[in-house]
Amino acid sequence: MITDKNQLWQLILGELELILSKANFNTWFKDTFISEWDGNKMIIGVPNTFTQSWLKNKYHEAIKKAVKNITKQEIVEILYKVESIKNNVSVLSKTNQDIKPQPDIPNIKTNPAPKNSSLLSCGLNEKYRFENFIVGKNNELAHAAAKAVARNPGHVYNPLFIYGGVGLGKTHLIQAVGHYVLKERKNFRVLYTTCEKFTNDFVQAIKNGQTKKFQDFYRNIDLLLIDDIQFMAGKEQIQEQFFHTFNELHQNNKQIIISSDRSPASIPTIEERLKSRFNWGMIADISSPDLETRMAILEAKLNEKNISLSREIINYIASVIKNNIRELEGALNRIIAHFELTKSLPDIDTVKNILSSITTNIKKGIISPKQIIKEVAEFYDIDINDITGNSRRKELVIPRQIVMYLIREETNASFPSIGEVVGGRDHTTVMHACKKIKQDLNTNEKLKVEIDAIRQRLYH
Ligand code: ADP
Ligand code: MG
Repeated sequence: MITDKNQLWQLILGELELILSKANFNTWFKDTFISEWDGNKMIIGVPNTFTQSWLKNKYHEAIKKAVKNITKQEIVEILYKVESIKNNVSVLSKTNQDIKPQPDIPNIKTNPAPKNSSLLSCGLNEKYRFENFIVGKNNELAHAAAKAVARNPGHVYNPLFIYGGVGLGKTHLIQAVGHYVLKERKNFRVLYTTCEKFTNDFVQAIKNGQTKKFQDFYRNIDLLLIDDIQFMAGKEQIQEQFFHTFNELHQNNKQIIISSDRSPASIPTIEERLKSRFNWGMIADISSPDLETRMAILEAKLNEKNISLSREIINYIASVIKNNIRELEGALNRIIAHFELTKSLPDIDTVKNILSSITTNIKKGIISPKQIIKEVAEFYDIDINDITGNSRRKELVIPRQIVMYLIREETNASFPSIGEVVGGRDHTTVMHACKKIKQDLNTNEKLKVEIDAIRQRLYH
């Protein structure tokens, strides 16, 4: 039996991390620890009552399973107790570099409303503007809607909901609206925030008894840009809070722009009333750019830096890096770094060489079936065991088929071996699943966007 409580908790967190989204994991398991453990009963220390009720109501089963997996004890009683870490060391905050100590809702304290909106206070990145956003077939609707909203916030499409896979320009586009509005309307209060930050601010506000301040702050904004709303899935209290914020802003003709990695209908466990509100305004998607758009983006970025490369080289880069624009930029940056180092423009072979490590990563075979299972489970907010298990529920059957399809497509594994990793299934089942998804992809737009998004996460 592991007796070191910190070590034990770290192992349990390791299990939980596999099944929870990063945002949920960080939000709910920060500053938790094992307070007592005698082999039968475990008391988990949590920082506040909010976390306590959340863990008890939402994650108890998952925690129980993880505890059982690690301790191998059959009967384990688990309780949650509000306790400060003081003498106990929080494993998560110690080892997870990603988690920074949470300041006390800094915006709310020091900046009750970003009135004379300096960029810092409204969270905008200087780089993300309309001027350097390249428009192609993949994003023209989203771009047009964003422009319309920027010209007339609160009065055209409210909310504007933009969705699409990772690295396709959602953040860039919604922030561009922020910059535009700030320039045109000096007194507008603009706030860019992420779902994660909204959640953290709210948790913090509850902890400090400042929920009223929190509400006043968010409800006093003229343009709210909220990024990556998919992370609100499964968080009922946050949804409730956001619902009220949304209503308040909407009623007063304040503009709301939301981004997500999937359409409202495809976000699991988000309240119907929120979904229906997301449908009130305009929903626009951004898909992967075609070759022509990718080349135009490369050219624009090179122009910005005053570097010119031959058409052949630009074509080469754009044809090997297809999935996402962030990767495209990454590739270009490597080439530019090379150029700056050697002071000479690379020829096509040098470029091939420079990009070879990126392109082999993109080639098939690097992604493992396990990663695919994890990514699909996370995307649909279901348990990994549900994918490998036997339930015939529709919400599990389709993700399971997607897993089989993706393993086949991305790793070239044989049908029998895929059957094996997906819970010991017969190879004919796998063949059927692959065929079915392939067929559905021709007709089912939603499925296509979802599989696109999962692929992008895999190669991210
Ligand atoms: P997302 O939020 O969808 O994950 P981002 O907005 O962060 O993607 O975009 C990733 C990178 O690609 C950013 O550096 C962004 O400036 C760039 N980018 C995305 N789309 C475009 C575009 N249409 N034109 C120019 N740059 C783009
Ligand atoms: Mg983004």
